[in-house]
Amino acid sequence: MEFETIVALATPAGNNGVAVIRISGPKAKTIAQKLIKEKLNFEPRKMYLKKIDLKSFTDNALIVFFAKPFSFTGEDVVEVQAHGGYFLAQTIIDCIISLGARLATPGEFSKRAFLNGKISLDEAEGIVDMINAETQMQAKASSELLQGKLKDNIQAKQTVLTDILAEVEARLDYPEYEFSNLETANFLEKIKHLEGELNALILDSQKGLIIKNGVKIAIVGAPNVGKSSLLNALTKSEKAIVTDIAGTTRDVIEAEYLFNGIVFRLFDTAGIHNSTDKVEKIGISRAIKTIDESDLVLRLSEPNSPCKVKTTKPHIDVLNKIDLTKGKAIKTKSTDAISISAKTGENVEDLKQLIFDKTIKSNIDQNKFYLTNTRHIECIKSTLAHLKKAIKIFNSTTMDIISAELKAAWSDLGEVTGTTANEAIIDKIFSKFCLGK
Ligand code: GDP
Repeated sequence: MEFETIVALATPAGNNGVAVIRISGPKAKTIAQKLIKEKLNFEPRKMYLKKIDLKSFTDNALIVFFAKPFSFTGEDVVEVQAHGGYFLAQTIIDCIISLGARLATPGEFSKRAFLNGKISLDEAEGIVDMINAETQMQAKASSELLQGKLKDNIQAKQTVLTDILAEVEARLDYPEYEFSNLETANFLEKIKHLEGELNALILDSQKGLIIKNGVKIAIVGAPNVGKSSLLNALTKSEKAIVTDIAGTTRDVIEAEYLFNGIVFRLFDTAGIHNSTDKVEKIGISRAIKTIDESDLVLRLSEPNSPCKVKTTKPHIDVLNKIDLTKGKAIKTKSTDAISISAKTGENVEDLKQLIFDKTIKSNIDQNKFYLTNTRHIECIKSTLAHLKKAIKIFNSTTMDIISAELKAAWSDLGEVTGTTANEAIIDKIFSKFCLGK
């Protein structure tokens, strides 16, 4: 597929040490030759220090050429490394456009890489996730996507479906063909096996979303037990207002901290109790919703005031203000309870470790591959729906109907890697990329 030649700044706009300008497409090499006013036959992957002609002045730049298909986009690519600076970079880009290129749209380089078969759709999404990664675990998950872990996994499953479909369809071509019981039992077993594998991926996907989005923790308890103080102590901030006036926290306050490469997102809720105050009542119903959406609940109490908030969610009972009961408080070794002082910071680090152990260590295998992208999860869920339907109706219908379900499953699965994705989906994914990527 031949495209127009595109150009964009690959480094952030502004005054930088170096600006990298990327050109991709059939005219990349001739544009570079015109830029240096020399018919140089660029050797691929070799840096050339050259004077570039910018009409009214010149600059020295490093130029590297990647010959198709051995480039990121799969096309001829030239990268110009010039001095940084908004005006200079813009002048070079304008000059390249006047020599026959056009400005790239956001994500167009990656989209071309996909269209030229250099990367799959999920690998492209891995690039975005890698750029946006803020923690070690997020970077690891996106690196695995980029390395093709999901693509390999999905392609293997699609091959299983292709093989079953090929066998079924070949026989359906002969209307007089009778499927033997052994044959159909064999098909059913393969479909069930595939369903089991995809089910396991979906069941684990909640863990992948925790890696990507962080662990959501609701801090609950009666007014004045120290919920805001605990949020501040855990995040080492003054985000929540601390007073001895009950009902100060009327809305959900959010703050986060990092621990062992994972983001923990805390939600300080309004004290849950019977209130007649209109604003406080809204805060209390939001607190209940926050509990529902959380991965872990910290049930906070103070001496002589147990937490009355009940939850079926994983939780830790945190007894606060132990500085007031010095000598009486017992530091429990339970994984579900701990005594702390949000005021003095006593045992707050132990609480962080306990939270990590309960949500990550006992739950998430840091070496395992998890789905972290909701689009991939949705594609696999719809694949599963077709497989489940095929299994359900298997013994009560004809093979052509089963085959139709399997084809739909095959198509939904292919959307993960992009082999069956339509243009609208592809455009939507690449529009999330930044310019020059
Ligand atoms: P919230 O209403 O549950 O959010 O409670 P706050 O965090 O606003 O705290 C209520 C009062 O308890 C404030 O006066 C805090 O200074 C005090 N407090 C919070 N944690 C502790 C603690 O660990 N020890 C002591 N002595 N006081 C605390």
